[in-house]
Amino acid sequence: MSSKPVFLYDTTLRDGTQGEGFQLSGFDKLRIAERLDAFGIDYIEGGWPGSNPKDIELFQEAKKLKLSHARLAAFGSTRRANTAVEEDRQVALLLEAETPVVTIFGKSWELHVTEVLRTTVEENRAMIRDTVAHLVKHGREVVYDAEHFFDGYKDSPEHALATLEAAAEGGASCLVLCDTNGGTLPSEVMQICLAVKTRLPDTPFGIHTHNDYELAVANAMAAVKAGAAQIQGTINGYGERTGNCNLTSVIPILQLKMGLKLVPGLEKLRDLSYFVDDVSNNPHFARAPFVGRTAFAHKGGMHVNAVRKLARSYEHIEPGSVGNEQNILVSELSGQDNILDRAEKLGLPLAKGSAEAGSVLRRVKELEHEGYSYEAAGGSFELLVRRELPDYAKPFEFTEYHTSFRQYRDGHAPVCEATVKLRVDGKPVLTVAEGHGVINALDLALRKALVPFFPELESVSLVDYKVRIIDGHDATAAKTRVLIVSSDGTRNWGTVGVSESIIEASWIALTDGLELFLQRR
Ligand SMILES: [Zn+2]
Repeated sequence: MSSKPVFLYDTTLRDGTQGEGFQLSGFDKLRIAERLDAFGIDYIEGGWPGSNPKDIELFQEAKKLKLSHARLAAFGSTRRANTAVEEDRQVALLLEAETPVVTIFGKSWELHVTEVLRTTVEENRAMIRDTVAHLVKHGREVVYDAEHFFDGYKDSPEHALATLEAAAEGGASCLVLCDTNGGTLPSEVMQICLAVKTRLPDTPFGIHTHNDYELAVANAMAAVKAGAAQIQGTINGYGERTGNCNLTSVIPILQLKMGLKLVPGLEKLRDLSYFVDDVSNNPHFARAPFVGRTAFAHKGGMHVNAVRKLARSYEHIEPGSVGNEQNILVSELSGQDNILDRAEKLGLPLAKGSAEAGSVLRRVKELEHEGYSYEAAGGSFELLVRRELPDYAKPFEFTEYHTSFRQYRDGHAPVCEATVKLRVDGKPVLTVAEGHGVINALDLALRKALVPFFPELESVSLVDYKVRIIDGHDATAAKTRVLIVSSDGTRNWGTVGVSESIIEASWIALTDGLELFLQRR
């Protein structure tokens, strides 16, 4: 492997899947591995073949992967106590995975050796040395993960260092110091890493941190400062408890702040982050540094004014360098600059101080006061601007709708029915539809009415529907906010409706979604 200042070792597929709510099928893992490789990750840990048959299958399938850069690693443990390494089934499975790299973990903390493994410190060192040497003899690059290294070192520096020596004697390519319990401070990491470097100057060391003190990234940075040659972590910080070291933060910090060239296309970072969320079916964390939706969002009016003049005045990096973008939030706090900026990005420029700009601003403030929010409903904002422009024409005019819900007690399925009355080109249209819910019935009746005039609406579907109760300005007027996402198969857009009635709120969001599609044609 070519020389690099720091190698990136991803364990999203192994340690990441220890996290609650983060599950990946074998197929998901292969897709993520390909993306990690394309992004420039150096090592990808695929799983632990000795822990479950799913991971054995994964390594079978992974043989077909054509990784252009990354080296795939199988993960496992040292041989069992008092067993010859050649006879240890778990170690044999590591070789059967046929990966170029094998990572094994061993015990650094004397307490774990005597109390958990119930063996001697000498046997523990032999387990580490034998296993590493055995894997090296079979042509593997062996990464040694020193479990509980920092806690073990604090308890007995001599014991912890002797276990690393055993791994180095066996031929390990890198000694990875693990903060398994996640409670070490950056100053301690720095000091202990320097002690390791002094004792074992000829074998590179790496760092594997957990985020229990919210210091996983800071601890990894401290280790790099002390000379670490490998960083282990996961995309978006997925992992057990509070998670692992977040590579999505570490990589831009090292590359942009410390000038270390680690990946060729840092601007693909945000997409990689979203990809891992989507494949694992997790919501994106909006406030994530660098890649979050709001990482470069500006809300206060004066603040936005300054950002528009000079982005550097309120932004630590150029958002595009990590594939993110500046996001000017439209809110009650916003001045005219917010609105102008967003409208311009939509290709609907409004002149500053113009009558249109003034009326859009007034309308946004009125509606926000009613409970509207446009941060996840860019489609409704776009429609609001379009409606204030002089060439706006309504594609259809709604007159009325009616919905009903009939629940039976004799086992008959409930019936939801909607009637819609509207006018297109002055012609009255009336349709009725039944659905499996009131909103579904309304949606079907609307389409039935509109599709004969606008057949292209066939391609539009409702892909997400969220309801939230918001506080009204007095106790009697709690309101419902409905957020809808519509899609035409290539593009998604969000719309919003607010009303004291959930049906009316849904109706507003629904019709906005359809109208915007027609306006954009
Ligand atoms: Zn871990």
